[in-house]
Formats: sequence, structure tokens, C-alpha cells
Amino acid sequence: MSEVLSMKKVRIGIVASRFLKKEPAFANEELTYTMQGNVAAVIESGALPILIPITDPGDATQYLSQVDGLILPGGQDVQPKLYGEPESDLLGVTSASRDSFELKLIEIAIQQKKPIFAICRGAQLVNVYFGGTLYQDESLIKGKVRIEHDQTRLAIKNEIPSHMIKIVDEELQSVLGNSTKVNSLHHQAIKKIGKGLTITAVAADGVVEAFKNDSQKITAYQWHPEMQQRSDARMLQLFKIFLQKNFTETS
Ligand code: MN
Repeated sequence: MSEVLSMKKVRIGIVASRFLKKEPAFANEELTYTMQGNVAAVIESGALPILIPITDPGDATQYLSQVDGLILPGGQDVQPKLYGEPESDLLGVTSASRDSFELKLIEIAIQQKKPIFAICRGAQLVNVYFGGTLYQDESLIKGKVRIEHDQTRLAIKNEIPSHMIKIVDEELQSVLGNSTKVNSLHHQAIKKIGKGLTITAVAADGVVEAFKNDSQKITAYQWHPEMQQRSDARMLQLFKIFLQKNFTETS
């Protein structure tokens, strides 16, 4: 294993979420936050987490100049108008400001050749950026096999895996084998995969569970390795190989 290139830690920007409900524990004020799993995974991988609040897309370039790579975490549903479909009654909460800010971050990160690690909603948004489409709810997935992809409905803890996936990518197989069980906290799913994206893992019902674009330095997971790493060290390895692959000098 070769050494990380820089003496300084690699800086990974994590796009923060907004919490809009009134929460007495936080003085009934709105919050900007991220789940600790995102922060912990970056720290455990030896990099420096930097939170990026949702703000004006015009500031995306300046934010990206402060970081070496990006994590796009889970969150709200992507607005269907972004992939040219009318809203289903089954659509969940969306955030126009988050969609536009994160789409700009994706665009600038690709321009600047900065790697992106996308999780759940982040993976769905990257897919839409590349011209892909989504199922607005898992009940709309057309497949012979039916899998529950929202394990919160089954009262399964976030870090506990709930369904099998088949891995079809050599690099991912080197960490997870040919098949493994992952957690699943999504009710939306990729319908049409975006142009230039390569599927790296699928569920038995055909749902895309991971994809990549090596030339654009994109790695995307539909499951939550940042949560599952609490019960499975291989999931932390996914963050480590992302960093090694993109920031390590091979001698
Ligand atoms: Mn799933």
C-alpha cells in the first residue's frame, strides 16, 4: 500500500442537510447538520471532514476550492422535473435549493476533476445529473422479485443489513465478494442509469445498488456504508479505497 500523497490530510467536503422542524433540544431553531456516520467515516479513513452548508449555487466553485473531494450524503427525494417526469403521489419531501446547489457542486467537481462519493439520495442525484431517471417510490419498481428497500418499515436498525446484492465490479468484489448483504433506507431507486455510469452492484429485483464512473472519479452507493460500517468493517474500507484510489501516488 502506498502512502497518501500529501503531508496534509485530504479534505473531504460533506454537503450538510437542513433540519426545518422545530426541535426544543435545539431552542426551536432550524439546523444545518450531517449525520455523524459521514463525519466518522471520513475521520476513520484518515481524511479531514469539512461540512458545506446548502447555499447559493454561485458559491459552489469557491466551496470546491476549499476541498479535495466531496461526499453527497442521503436526504430528500430528487425533484422529478429534473428528469422530466410529473410528480407521483408517492413522492416524498423534496428540496429545490438542495437539488440546485448539489447539482452545481457535481458540475464543478467534475470540471475540477475532484472525486465524488455519493450515498443514497446523493447517488440518485448523480444519476439524474448524468441524464438518468428514478422510480419515485419502490412500489413502482417493475420486477418479478419484490424486495423491501426501506428497512425502517421493517424496524431493522440502520447499521444492520437487510437485503442481498450481487456485485459485478472487480474492485468492489475485492472488498465485498461476489455478493453480500447491505442496509437499505431508500424508497426511491434508479430507473434508467445515466449516460457514462457503470453499474457495479444490483439487488435481486434489479434495483441498482452501486455505480461508478472511473474517468469522472465518481463512486456511488444506494445503501449507507457510513451507517453499516458500525457493524461491518468492510464498509469503512469503501471510504478508504475511495481515498486511496483518488489521492494516492503510485510509485
Ligand atoms: Mn436497497
